[in-house]
Amino acid sequence: MQTLNLIAGEWVGAPTGATFPVTDPATDDVVAEVPRGGAEHARAAIDAAAAALPGWRALTAADRARPLRRLAELMVEQRERLARLMTREQGKPLAEARGEIDYAASFIEHAAEEGKRVLGEVIPASRPGQRIVVLRQPVGVVAAITPWNFPAAMITRKLGPALAAGCTIVVKPAEQTPLSALALGELSIDAGIPRGVINIVTGDAAAIGEAIFADARVRKVSFTGSTEVGRKLMVAAAPNVVRLSLELGGHAPFLVFDDADVDAAVTGAIKSKFRNAGQTCICPNRFFVQDGVYDEFVGKLAKQLQTMVLGSGLDDAVSIGPLIDDDAVAKVRDHIEDARARGAIVRTGGEIVRPGPGLTARFCRPTLLEGVDASMKLSVEETFGPVAPVRRFSSEAQAIELANASPFGLASYFYTRDASRLWRVAERLEYGIVGANDGAPSTAQAPFGGVKTSGFGREGGHHVMHEYLDVKYVSIGITEPNA
Ligand code: ADP
Repeated sequence: MQTLNLIAGEWVGAPTGATFPVTDPATDDVVAEVPRGGAEHARAAIDAAAAALPGWRALTAADRARPLRRLAELMVEQRERLARLMTREQGKPLAEARGEIDYAASFIEHAAEEGKRVLGEVIPASRPGQRIVVLRQPVGVVAAITPWNFPAAMITRKLGPALAAGCTIVVKPAEQTPLSALALGELSIDAGIPRGVINIVTGDAAAIGEAIFADARVRKVSFTGSTEVGRKLMVAAAPNVVRLSLELGGHAPFLVFDDADVDAAVTGAIKSKFRNAGQTCICPNRFFVQDGVYDEFVGKLAKQLQTMVLGSGLDDAVSIGPLIDDDAVAKVRDHIEDARARGAIVRTGGEIVRPGPGLTARFCRPTLLEGVDASMKLSVEETFGPVAPVRRFSSEAQAIELANASPFGLASYFYTRDASRLWRVAERLEYGIVGANDGAPSTAQAPFGGVKTSGFGREGGHHVMHEYLDVKYVSIGITEPNA
């Protein structure tokens, strides 16, 4: 297991020698100690990325694609080892961790291919004697600041396109899950990615963040995390006018219309809401079900939830792992208690338990709440736990109004079998991502990202390449030979 940081191709500790522990959220066992770096450490990583930039940028896209593809292959070849490491530091069930490794690798593979299709333009000129050419060039040194809920994929969806575009990178993974990041760093060396192109630093987030934004060589920061930290980064980005991509919180609505395939909606609800114990930014937080199918949907969903197994993610039978830490537990408990105090009824679940010997008391039973209303905390704040609050609606217009009544705009979901309604609702939902009869819309081929306070910028698809490219317009004056 790699526990040191990667700077300029060397494995190093923090300059002070300080470390912090990475713990298994299922058991509280210390998995490893990793460097607690600060500003100086971050600057060393930026130095390395800046030094590696000219060489990496000068390669052809095909020459950059080759080691990137190799990195994706190595991840898939070593899926089992990487998945076990991820489950230990993050807690998610092994099957999900294995899925995440493949998903994470797919972002690198896709970006490596897209890098070859970064096209310029020649535009008809405005006057004789002029030619207009548009170049797309790498922005330069990039920093990625990533969260703990997808320890590998949140990095590769930034690192893949950044490198494919010709940028070099400093990665600051979440303090809860640095080991998956460091393992990726090791594989990047085996894959032949040159020294300094990828640098990974762990430690004091605020100090590292400050050093990143203070350094004019960093031209772009891509962040996935909370809206609260995203706002701070916007302020920090102002002095050097640093480009940002922000993928922030969500509060996804999930609508089930009378004409839906209810079984498909239940399957979609399980996938979207209960994956990673409800700790994803695209998890539905508000279920709205039309009167005609309300009882059927709620009955079937409750039955499914009662079959889910809590425990250590390393146990293959487990479908719900622990919440990441005690703060997460406190928030989920608070949301459930607040909803109950305001009149919600627990149809199933509702408890936070220690599911077995040697395990922590950080496991939330899959929960379905009825009688929910807009006054409850979970109707306005992201819960980040396996809690599905359900409300009724009677008309399409009402459903859209309820769905859009949120400052967030990341993901949304709805189920219908009416083709016209499918188009109407998809167009009216004020969200960056719409799963229409689909509970798992994320994929490397498609642009992922939000509107409103869920942020801006897109990851995936060909769209992500633009996040790491500057547009340069070259106006060329030419003379014609005298006739
Ligand atoms: P979450 O709620 O998912 O933990 P956060 O927004 O707190 O989300 O964290 C996401 C990432 O942002 C993590 O890597 C964390 O260390 C980092 N982070 C937190 N605060 C700051 C900050 N002030 N500056 C830079 N990065 C930060």
